[in-house]
Formats: sequence, structure tokens, C-alpha cells
Amino acid sequence: MSAQTPVPAKPATLPTLESPQSDQSLPVVNQPGVPFVEIEALRAREFIPAAKEALSSLLKEQAEGKLIRPVFNWAGRNSLFPLHWGLACCAIEFAAAFGARWDAERFGVVPRSSPRQCDLLIVNGTVTWKVAHKLITLYEQMPEPKWAIAMGNCATGGGPFRTAYSVVPGVDKLIPVDVYIAGCPPRPESMLDGIIRLERLIKERGE
Ligand code: SF4
Repeated sequence: MSAQTPVPAKPATLPTLESPQSDQSLPVVNQPGVPFVEIEALRAREFIPAAKEALSSLLKEQAEGKLIRPVFNWAGRNSLFPLHWGLACCAIEFAAAFGARWDAERFGVVPRSSPRQCDLLIVNGTVTWKVAHKLITLYEQMPEPKWAIAMGNCATGGGPFRTAYSVVPGVDKLIPVDVYIAGCPPRPESMLDGIIRLERLIKERGE
């Protein structure tokens, strides 16, 4: 004779979630209340004058160029926009520097076609007296701060045409030059080196 397992009796009704009592109010924590009024008074007395003082010192630093100037300097020197302008054979090397092999854009250098959007003039060829006034106009149309690089022997000092009646013996006779790049022509690596030297110069000058 086998022993029978007792079957648990079914509950009469299934358990249900009880709905909260409508008249049940939220518990109230009976602790010393936060001295909200006192905080407000403290804020008015000490925080606001302190904030005003901090703000006025920040504005003073900004007026002196200590606050914003380093940020602009960092951004400007890492995103130089040279003018898309070629003069002679050095311009071929300038163009090659932006090709896939040297990829000058990885340094943030992006040529633009309008002088009003540029901050760098790379003079990359022989400058004749005939084109001199055009070069000066382009330079003057560029917004400040702006820089100039004399790329190659012709732009630096006239190069092989120095004694010619029609050639300017160095573009620094027309505009201020920040960096000179030697070579006839300088290779794209030299142009990239000149760009990096200019970036260091901008950092040192704090422009
Ligand atoms: S430096 Fe040499 S390569 Fe450059 S523009 Fe003058 S002649 Fe041409």
C-alpha cells in the first residue's frame, strides 16, 4: 500500500495587487527642516558678490587678451588656410603637397580660393613687377591675423632671375614675410616643414 502525497488546498481567491488607499497621504519626514531661507540669505550675502568678482576678473583677463587669445592662437595655428594661388614652377610643388602622397590637409592646412577666407599667403614662384600690385592687393584683402611664406628661391630673393629688370628681388620688398623656404624648387616636404615652422612661430609670438 503506497503512501499518498497530500495535495495542497487551492486558495479560495487568487492574490491581487491592492490598490493604494485614496486617503493615504505621503509619509512626512519629521526632521529638522533645511534652512532654505538661510541658504537664500547666504547666497545673496556672499555668493552673488563672489560671483560678480569672479566674472569681473574674467572680463578683465579677456580684455587683456589672457583668456580668449590662447584659444584663438591654438585654433588659428592648427587650421592655416593658404590662398589658392600659384605663380610659377614652385606652385606645382605646392599643389603636390596637397595630393594623396603628402596630404598637407592632415595638418589642418586647407587652401581657399578667396583671400577674405585666408590667413596665409604662400608666395610660390617668381614675382614680377607687373604682378606686384596684384600680390599686395591680395595680401591686403586677407583679414588679420595673417602670415606669409616665401616659398622657393625666386620668392625669397629673385632666384635665378634676380638680375632681370622685370623680377622683384624677394617678395619681402612688397609684404612682410614670416618664413622663408629655400630650394629651386623646394619639395613638398620642405613646404610642410615651413608650415610647421610657421605654426611654432605663431605659438611663440602668441598671435
Ligand atoms: S625657385 Fe626655381 S622652381 Fe621655384 S619658381 Fe623659381 S625657378 Fe621655379
